[in-house]
Amino acid sequence: MNRKTDKLCLAVIGGGAAGLAASVRAAGKVQVTVYEKGERVGKKLLMTGNGRCNIFNRRMDINKFYSEDISVVQEVLQKISVSKIEEFFLGLGLLLRNDSEGRVYPLCNQASAVLDVLRYAAKDAGVIFNCGFNVIKISKKNSGFELISSDGRKEYADKVLIAAGGNAAPKTGSDGSGYKLAKMLGHTVTKTEPALTALKINSPIPSALRGIRCKANVILEKDGSIIAEQSGEIQFTEYGLSGIAVMQLSRYDIEKAAVRIDFAENFSMDDILKYLYRAAHTTREIQDITLGIVPRRVGQQIVKNAVGRSLSSPVSRLTDKEIIQIAKTIKGLKLPISGKLSWDNAQVTRGGVKLSEINPDTMESRICKGVYFAGEILDCDGECGGYNLAWAWDSAIIAADGVCGL
Ligand SMILES: Cc1cc2nc3c(=O)[nH]c(=O)nc-3n(C[C@H](O)[C@H](O)[C@H](O)COP(=O)(O)OP(=O)(O)OC[C@H]3O[C@@H](n4cnc5c(N)ncnc54)[C@H](O)[C@@H]3O)c2cc1C
Repeated sequence: MNRKTDKLCLAVIGGGAAGLAASVRAAGKVQVTVYEKGERVGKKLLMTGNGRCNIFNRRMDINKFYSEDISVVQEVLQKISVSKIEEFFLGLGLLLRNDSEGRVYPLCNQASAVLDVLRYAAKDAGVIFNCGFNVIKISKKNSGFELISSDGRKEYADKVLIAAGGNAAPKTGSDGSGYKLAKMLGHTVTKTEPALTALKINSPIPSALRGIRCKANVILEKDGSIIAEQSGEIQFTEYGLSGIAVMQLSRYDIEKAAVRIDFAENFSMDDILKYLYRAAHTTREIQDITLGIVPRRVGQQIVKNAVGRSLSSPVSRLTDKEIIQIAKTIKGLKLPISGKLSWDNAQVTRGGVKLSEINPDTMESRICKGVYFAGEILDCDGECGGYNLAWAWDSAIIAADGVCGL
């Protein structure tokens, strides 16, 4: 940064959601330069919410967030109300709409609009974008910091905000290099894992059901204990299972674990048996006994697994034992997990820079004064529904105010 100003110079490392929001917020009060390794800022934002960007959720709930230091997450979230985020975006000229589950989207339904209003607001306020600058080293120099790029350029700033993201979706630029910078400055980085990604299943059932989507309750089990549980959409894919409910289980330790799917969570085992026995007294074929209870192809696979003979025989030939087995599978199809999809497919990172090393009032490091953090680089991940971007905006606004001494 060539000092052409008397203002304090802030270097923002990473032009993603957090870096852009912080730049807009701090611009004018301090001179902001965004150092972005990519050719353009905000690449990941364009992919969010299937191109619609689920910006935040009106129903903020600490139970939707995960961290080794969850009390710090809570402190951060409590400082920025939902109406403050709304005000921030309305102030940029972005009109919003929300769905029945509190998920907020741009009214125009375009993620590109979220990026564009942020970019223009930053530009209008005099933020300098230094794209193609891959920061590989930060060191303390005099009363500030020296940034060195991968091609040897050197820049100087009074304060630094590291908003370089995590490891998820590395094609968008967030390849974990921010963790190296954080460690260089003395920070602890907790174990990172892909989260909000699909699960691989070790069973022939999923491939037969490829493409089917349905609502279900999914339990993650390990050594006979329930690790986590989610209700919502699941999708059978060529490698296993996807869908929001399944992806939300991917943040846990899935080694030697299994998922148990309840296709009729609001109905008891007795209810299901009642419907199956009723169907067993019709003219249906065996393969159609679950019609009306679960999607047809799912039902046929369940029946095929429970009944080892011709599925086109009359349903009246089913034995009690077979009907009970079908009901049990509808209420708890168990599938062993063989892994999860990689960072390329993950939406977010579990783990990151340890939050106990960060002051939640300012997002300033307790280890290295003058260094601030915001966004996914920190040890905080959220569920689907706008919670990860909410974390990015909240931590960015606090960091910007912290830098400016507000
Ligand atoms: C497909 C997909 C869909 C998603 N949908 C949603 C959604 O709808 N709602 C939601 O809440 N969350 C969603 N998320 C998660 C959300 O996008 C992220 O949590 C959020 O973007 C994190 O913001 P960030 O600014 O911390 O990091 P990022 O957005 O990853 O930005 C980090 C930036 O830093 C740059 N950078 C990294 N290292 C360096 C370096 N050394 N030097 C210079 N620059 C560097 C990167 O190039 C990148 O531009 C989605 C994620 C994905 C992948």
